[in-house]
Amino acid sequence: ETLVHWVPLLDEGELSGAVAVFHDISALKRVERIRRDFVANVSHELRTPVTVIKGYAETLLSGALAHDPARGERFLQIILNHAERLSGLVRDLLALSELESGEVGLKPEKIAVADAARHALLLVAQRGEEKKIGLSYLDDGEGLQVQADRARLEQVLINLLDNAIKYSEAGGKVELSARPEGALVRISVRDSGIGIPEKDLPRLFERFYRVDEARSRDNGGTGLGLSIVKHIVQAHGGTVRVESEPGQGSVFSFTLPAA
Ligand code: ADP
Repeated sequence: ETLVHWVPLLDEGELSGAVAVFHDISALKRVERIRRDFVANVSHELRTPVTVIKGYAETLLSGALAHDPARGERFLQIILNHAERLSGLVRDLLALSELESGEVGLKPEKIAVADAARHALLLVAQRGEEKKIGLSYLDDGEGLQVQADRARLEQVLINLLDNAIKYSEAGGKVELSARPEGALVRISVRDSGIGIPEKDLPRLFERFYRVDEARSRDNGGTGLGLSIVKHIVQAHGGTVRVESEPGQGSVFSFTLPAA
């Protein structure tokens, strides 16, 4: 799309001609559309829990608490769940906007992948246990090391492990692994979960993109986890990849520079 802008040429105050300046505004329009969609998405995501919280609080105030304490308690639990979703959403939005501002301030250091893996696995262990999902770490025994910001790397691992657990049936298996790939290290999270249809794969790392909206919400998902992963990995000069087979499971992997 082009915007034509005419600039008059003046010669001692007299109009002597004009130049046409062609601006390509398709890129500009695309950015503007993405921004508008984002604001609409955020508003929608915020409105849902707020509406639920308001509805249940009103019901409680109009007597449910006094007349049926058990029911009242259930409503309070629902309010709490939605408040937690809201705070998760705000946390992820802040993380994303910090990453997108380009002022990430990475503090790369030499990190043993096995250490970061152990730490991340510890942090998701409880969720894994609740769903009876076996978590493991596998490397090639060479003591792989990467050059990365420790907190960010752990956030990537936790987001991927969390998803692997969320989108698996009870009794499943989740395996974290690492192997060298030239000057890089590839870290993978493999699950035996529900998998992802091929048509959804290209859009998976977009903000708020979900294969199954209801399932994501029920699991406390914000739809932002993978876009945070992608931003962090790219800020380190790495790339992300996903392979999946519906009903068989998924492998999410990323590369980081080896140390
Ligand atoms: P969410 O908060 O919804 O989990 P993410 O950005 O982390 O958001 O993931 C985006 C979508 O990708 C999810 O809603 C889900 O549909 C799909 N997804 C992510 N990880 C997996 C996985 N391991 N197995 C199946 N689907 C997945």
